[in-house]
Amino acid sequence: MKNTLKGIEVHCDDCGKTFRIEKLETDWVNDSVRRTYFECPHCKKKYTSFYEDAKVRENIKDIQKLQKKMNGIVAQNREIMESLKQKYEA
Ligand SMILES: [Zn+2]
Repeated sequence: MKNTLKGIEVHCDDCGKTFRIEKLETDWVNDSVRRTYFECPHCKKKYTSFYEDAKVRENIKDIQKLQKKMNGIVAQNREIMESLKQKYEA
């Protein structure tokens, strides 16, 4: 999620200059909410990318687990299909 914005060109509404997003910063808004943002290197204006709380972070972990599981299933299917092909076309 964090890397998807890197390198994207942004036009700053405040100073009118254009820049590429180099890195995303994070800070804690309170005990549970974290903000991810980037800064205009020219005027230092901060642009919020997103906020996340404990539930969002928990969901992100779940999504990562599911993606891992999905990748395993896809790989398994590829193997089965390959062996079926060898079996029936040999
Ligand atoms: Zn600016």
